[in-house]
Amino acid sequence: MAKKILVLAGDGVGPEVTAAAEIVLRAILERHGLAAIFEHALVGGACYDATGEFITDETMRLAHGADCILFGSEGGPKWDELELSGTPESRSGLIRLRRELELFANLRPIRALDELLEFSTFRADVIRGVDFIVLRELCGGIYFGEPRGIVCTADGQQRGIDTQVYTESEISRIARAGFELARFRRRKLTSVDKANVMESGVLWRRVVSRIGREEFPEVALNHLYVDNAAMQIVRNPRQFDVLVTDNLFGDILSDCAAMISGSLGMLPSASLSFAAGAKEQKGLYEPVHGSAPDIAGRGIANPAGAILSVGLMLKYTFGRADLCDQVEHAVRTALANGCRSMDLGGNATTAQVTDAVVAALRPVLN
Ligand code: NAD
Repeated sequence: MAKKILVLAGDGVGPEVTAAAEIVLRAILERHGLAAIFEHALVGGACYDATGEFITDETMRLAHGADCILFGSEGGPKWDELELSGTPESRSGLIRLRRELELFANLRPIRALDELLEFSTFRADVIRGVDFIVLRELCGGIYFGEPRGIVCTADGQQRGIDTQVYTESEISRIARAGFELARFRRRKLTSVDKANVMESGVLWRRVVSRIGREEFPEVALNHLYVDNAAMQIVRNPRQFDVLVTDNLFGDILSDCAAMISGSLGMLPSASLSFAAGAKEQKGLYEPVHGSAPDIAGRGIANPAGAILSVGLMLKYTFGRADLCDQVEHAVRTALANGCRSMDLGGNATTAQVTDAVVAALRPVLN
């Protein structure tokens, strides 16, 4: 059965890196005789300008019907400064997609590639061999909790409110996803919270501990407060295998950890509804970076994060971990051959990096 892939390129560098990722994806699908149907639609600011909405109901219908989504990025100064009311979903196409498709498990693999060791702002001896996953809860927490908003107080001040809230079932499902991932890796799960000062953190820690004890005794579990976790990522990142945390902490820790790989432009992600044991899952795949308005339109964005996201698509939606390895191998070969974009100290354009990756895809052996 041909897989249906919905491509939502979005804003800024989104269309540039998504086009690159689509070229690599089509090349690898063709080589391996895999069928796919591509559909394209607007999202984010581009969609707002055309329709007055950040994603339309029609695009949501396509998203529900697709096996997976290849997403670029959304936003930019033009739209970030709009005074918008309404729910988080009505203010972001990406948030609506994550919530309505229940893509609650956001996987952000963090790796120190040998080819880029000297380029990272971290010392090579600290990061050599780093290979862990930040698993971020994506559909709950402070990004959605009610009450929220900016209100006027009795003394005439404005007051901004956000609410951090997690239910037991929201914590359980992301904890199980974390244990499942760790089970097939080095069997170590680190859960990150702020249980020393936050009630939601106390519940988070209690639920993760119970699930570990009752369902995954073979996985070693430890807990860190988020401030310590940030320090440990910088001090000794090799200690981690899978790190599971909430929406806000995961957002911040994964950008910090991104620098281990040399550039935010290198980081891929997969957002899954994580059906344990399912070989082919529905997912949304996107680079971790945003729309990078400072470099958009110049053809110099690093497409590696988007291309490696296609690797994750092949692994989780197509059930072909071997093809994910091939994409990674091709990106590493291109880097080893000196094809580096500006963020990695080189001068290769987005198109040149893409061509180098396609050229480095292994031939199919008959
Ligand atoms: P950003 O990730 O867009 O950029 C941060 C820095 O990294 C910039 O200097 C940028 O030039 C650089 N960078 C990012 N991607 C790169 C790439 N592929 N190659 C080379 N350099 C790259 O973050 P920001 O500046 O905080 O946000 C810009 C816009 O993107 C905002 O509107 C924000 O809301 C949006 N955003 C969207 C997403 C998303 O769609 N998932 C995520 C983060 C930010």
